[in-house]
Amino acid sequence: MFQKILIANRGEIALRVLRACKELGIQTVVVHSTADADAMHVRLADESVCIGPPPSRDSYLNIHQIVAACEITGADAVHPGYGFLSENAKFADILAAHNITFIGPTGDHIRIMGDKIEAKRTAKRLGIPVVPGSDGAVTEDKEAKRIAAAIGYPVIIKASAGGGGRGMKVARSEADLEVALQTARSEAGAAFGDDAVYIEKYLQKPRHIEVQVFGDGAGRGVHFGERDCSLQRRHQKVWEEAPSPALNAEERAHIGGVCARAIAHLGYSGAGTIEFLYEDGEFYFIEMNTRLQVEHPVTEAITGIDLVHEQIRVASGGGLSVRQEDIRFHGHAIECRINAEDPRTFTPSPGTITHFHTPGGLGIRVDSGVYSGYKIPPYYDSLIGKLIVHGRNRVECMMRLRRALDEFVVDGIKTTLPLFRDLVGNADIANGDYDIHWLEKYLAEGE
Ligand code: ADP
Repeated sequence: MFQKILIANRGEIALRVLRACKELGIQTVVVHSTADADAMHVRLADESVCIGPPPSRDSYLNIHQIVAACEITGADAVHPGYGFLSENAKFADILAAHNITFIGPTGDHIRIMGDKIEAKRTAKRLGIPVVPGSDGAVTEDKEAKRIAAAIGYPVIIKASAGGGGRGMKVARSEADLEVALQTARSEAGAAFGDDAVYIEKYLQKPRHIEVQVFGDGAGRGVHFGERDCSLQRRHQKVWEEAPSPALNAEERAHIGGVCARAIAHLGYSGAGTIEFLYEDGEFYFIEMNTRLQVEHPVTEAITGIDLVHEQIRVASGGGLSVRQEDIRFHGHAIECRINAEDPRTFTPSPGTITHFHTPGGLGIRVDSGVYSGYKIPPYYDSLIGKLIVHGRNRVECMMRLRRALDEFVVDGIKTTLPLFRDLVGNADIANGDYDIHWLEKYLAEGE
């Protein structure tokens, strides 16, 4: 087991990882920018190292400074959290070259999944169902037309190097196709320095369903069931739940099994998420994230398993603590992402939190790095906390969520709490009847 882990992140996830390390008796080092000197993860860590000024590229993305911090403090492993360097293959490779363990998959696995065309090819080869579309990049307009006609309109053009919901264009007919291709190519070239694009069928009313997987790096793979993250705004997840209200036990076991076998075959190590669109009973792979996800606590709530403990165990060579048959699902869990944003316009609302009071009671978990008097710096994403609620079934979970949202107090800044108070009383949400476009439509109607 590791002696000392350096946490290369900030905010709630830095604290989340720190808690797991403490439970396992592992010393912790955190790195932080000058803007985060007062952050909770800095206060609670055994050691902290300031690695630079506020902009992420000079601090949380500064590989040299982070490696130097490992060497100064004698850390033997790095947990990257999510975002920042968590899916940076070069970072994983550099740590390996310095004999420091990256708590995550190998650089090569990150690389494969970071390139969407390569990821889709790999998924297909491993028996994972994919969205019908071009086999690789499309360079000629004629070829694009032939493929689009064969799969049927509407189609979506996506950048191979895309991410964060950017670099996608929908073409509804052949008349739209040329312009859509051109725009997608030039946007991808400008944003990602790579103008390779591919085509796939545009699904009209899918749900976003993702499977949590784990590999031990030695050919064993398991799944921890799915999460439904269909409630999104601008491709950003807002509310996540497990299990999905749309799946039955048979579908869950089937898609979970497909994913676990693929992970085993790949020789993958650590946590990963295989993301699908789901429509009319069919799953379509869209991408794999090779890291811990923001929404992992809903899976922890229904399985009772600490996924960060598992990540650390696997990275240290101790293997997974569970076999597939040990992973059981209990009840229902929902996570609300509480952002420092206006609940209607979603403009960021940094500033000082004058009062912060979190709900409690059975089935309630709050993961947050903020406190009363904390000043939110304007440089980073606006997530200030996550409310995760567990109940024996979805109805109990929703009752408890409504009560917990009423108890939650964040004064001094605007937050997305009022949005969740609206959602929890909505009939479609109560029925679990929503797709990936539902929230955007709901917000547009309220304007
Ligand atoms: P990114 O890496 O940029 O997040 P994804 O491939 O994960 O890109 O897609 C992001 C979102 O775009 C999906 O959650 C979905 O809302 C939409 N999307 C992607 N592919 C399709 C498709 N073939 N049909 C319909 N919507 C899609």
